[in-house]
Amino acid sequence: MHESAVRAVPGLPAAVLFDMDGTLIDSEKAWDESLVGLLRWLVGSDTADLAPEARAATLGGSLATSLAIVFREAGVEPEPELVEQGRRRLVDRTGELLTQGVAWRPGAQSALRTVRAAGIPAALVTNTGRYLTEMALQQIGRSNFAVTVCGDEVPRGKPAPDPYLRAAELLGVPAGECVAVEDSPTGVAAAEAAGATVLVVPCEVAVPAGPRRVLRESLVGLTPDDLAAVMHRVRAGV
Ligand SMILES: [Mg+2]
Repeated sequence: MHESAVRAVPGLPAAVLFDMDGTLIDSEKAWDESLVGLLRWLVGSDTADLAPEARAATLGGSLATSLAIVFREAGVEPEPELVEQGRRRLVDRTGELLTQGVAWRPGAQSALRTVRAAGIPAALVTNTGRYLTEMALQQIGRSNFAVTVCGDEVPRGKPAPDPYLRAAELLGVPAGECVAVEDSPTGVAAAEAAGATVLVVPCEVAVPAGPRRVLRESLVGLTPDDLAAVMHRVRAGV
């Protein structure tokens, strides 16, 4: 490794914890398609569509939450066997779309390189299950992360703090010393509940301002100093 790559820079976060869907890759488009496909299968119509508010409510949430929302929208009783069939359809279709490759979110690929070059440990912290995450990691690159935590590997997914707390634990750093990068209100809530500072790069829905978060239009041009500034702004309350 290049000498400058491991130089400690004062004020940098102990680690950067990246959300996946909508933050690093535009996989929410794949979920758009698979969730509507599930709804159409449930109601038996090729033209049914998911209401925008219902789709927005699934953003950044767990698979179980998304399934519950689609069943509710379809007006179909969530019998366990049918939910399991629906879960399989959703995962299979999303997996197909992910293996075809999805677009990077603007600046995400270079942000990963920047964090790595600065010697800051990175984690992938996603509500998506391990099976689909592994498919996405073929594109994103496992080597970008010291650890990866998936939604099916913790007791409670986001908006609970569990995935973020688990990532910090695996990295051996306090969550409060980390910057989380998130795109959705659900993900931001999880990161904040874990005590992390949050860099918010909204994707599908707007995220309101808050004391532990700094909003940024995208990850384009993100520098290590920007990450230090995020922590500083939150601590200073500015
Ligand atoms: Mg997300």
